[in-house]
Amino acid sequence: MRQAEAGAARTMLERTAERFRLKPKRLAGDSAYGEAEMLHWLVEEQKIEPHVPVIDKSTRQDGTFSRAEFTYDAGADPYTCPEGKTLTTSGRIVNEGTTHIYLGITFDCGPCHLKQQCCPNTPARRITRSIYENARVVARALKGTPAFEQSRQDRKRVEMV
Ligand code: SF4
Repeated sequence: MRQAEAGAARTMLERTAERFRLKPKRLAGDSAYGEAEMLHWLVEEQKIEPHVPVIDKSTRQDGTFSRAEFTYDAGADPYTCPEGKTLTTSGRIVNEGTTHIYLGITFDCGPCHLKQQCCPNTPARRITRSIYENARVVARALKGTPAFEQSRQDRKRVEMV
């Protein structure tokens, strides 16, 4: 259902651009439009601001560190953990071509005093990152801005009608 809604929106935007040479500056939508691939299409390909809640399932529910506890360096590419150690990727893409995996090393994680809060069941910490994560970062940064709030109110008014 989510994919169908996002697919319909893409088609509408493409047809409008093709027939009328019109392209919006922003797209206001609910979380049905917040999948990583849709956000990537909006941000990177269409240069349209996504005023959309981001779908993010990276928060862990078991009390161990979520990905948000790690710092990403967009320039050099590694993640840095709360202990200041580096998690790197081989560059291989998994999950049907959608995900990079970043790994810590057993040498760091094994003796780490935060291991039980970080990776109690594995020798070293593992983090996944969508290949579309940059677009999600852009969408997250827009949330709460005056323009985003305006879009949210406009969308509610339209949906009520
Ligand atoms: S267990 Fe590893 S990744 Fe986690 S905080 Fe310690 S050194 Fe960092």
